[in-house]
Amino acid sequence: MLKVPQYVDNIAPYVPGKPIEELERELGISRSVKLASNENPLGPSPLAVDEIAKHVGTLHRYPDGGAYELRSALAQQHGVEIDEVIVGQGSNELIDIAIRAFQEPGDETIMGNPSFVVYYISSAKAGGTPVMVPLTTDYRLDLKAMAEKITGRTKIICIANPNNPTGTIVTKDEMREFFRALPDNILVIMDEAYYEYAASGNGGDGGGGFPDSMEHFRDGREILILRTFSKAYGLAGCRIGYGIAKSRITGAMNKIREPFNTSTLAQKAAIAALKDTEHIRRAVEINAEGRAYLYKELKALGIDFVPSHTNFIYMDLKKNAVEIYNRLLKLGMIVRPMGSADTTTIRVTIGLPPENEEFIRTLREVL
Ligand SMILES: *Cc1c(COP(=O)(O)O)cnc(C)c1O
Repeated sequence: MLKVPQYVDNIAPYVPGKPIEELERELGISRSVKLASNENPLGPSPLAVDEIAKHVGTLHRYPDGGAYELRSALAQQHGVEIDEVIVGQGSNELIDIAIRAFQEPGDETIMGNPSFVVYYISSAKAGGTPVMVPLTTDYRLDLKAMAEKITGRTKIICIANPNNPTGTIVTKDEMREFFRALPDNILVIMDEAYYEYAASGNGGDGGGGFPDSMEHFRDGREILILRTFSKAYGLAGCRIGYGIAKSRITGAMNKIREPFNTSTLAQKAAIAALKDTEHIRRAVEINAEGRAYLYKELKALGIDFVPSHTNFIYMDLKKNAVEIYNRLLKLGMIVRPMGSADTTTIRVTIGLPPENEEFIRTLREVL
């Protein structure tokens, strides 16, 4: 019989939020509200939608495997060379490629717990050892404790800033302190999927300011900065994200990525979305308003939550969260329980005002 390698068999599969259509079919409901995957509730930029429509007729052709036009636009925006930019099928794929490119079997990859589960899966499936470091008591990545876990086998450190699922940040000073003592044979993956929200300062600056990770790139550090078009840019369905790193790093990653990893429509949509700064501004603004509303209502309900620098809020219901999740589902409200079967925490994406109001109404009903 075909053997599944132990390190593959051990992996708990990633459970994505269910698509709305599937849930509605299963539960026999309609008009449900999805606040489970941190998507932009405004949708994609109209400029991106137009660009997709314009290029549908070219789909018999392979995409530009080098994504030249998109990488040029990104290089220009960030003031880097084009060979310092790599694009992927979401930043998810870039995490996976980076780990496969640099982590050898038996090497260690350090990450927070809880943090983005893709780090764990990518490290484990490549035969590495994920090293999970608990968050601080205020739900932030503990960079000091993570640095203390460095051994001779450590190859990669994954920093989700802001962190998913808790929505917290590490500050500029903490980042600088961390890099000061960091050996130069370790790759730091700075995963900034919620950059647009966090860098706006709308969530507060965490006391010390949101770090400018480009500062560490310019210092010549072994850093891979990841951003995505899936969150504030509203293009999660296109599957496109990008990374910035020195060309030795992107070069190694390019050797192992699929030659046509991003589609024509995704590349075109991303180029257009980059130009629509007004769309991002509105997304950040409506998110800040929704967040303020939810804070107020959660306080009124006596629910503990973690102040967020993102478009989602992590909260502790002090009751079995899987049961509450299931009861919310039956009312057409889709959120995300976070953790094991006995967890009491959920993560809720900030939606449009009527969606946020519906969340509070259904939560009140269920509690
Ligand atoms: C959503 C998310 C991503 C990105 O996902 P893609 O859609 O693959 O770009 C990456 N990191 C974190 C922490 C996220 O929450």
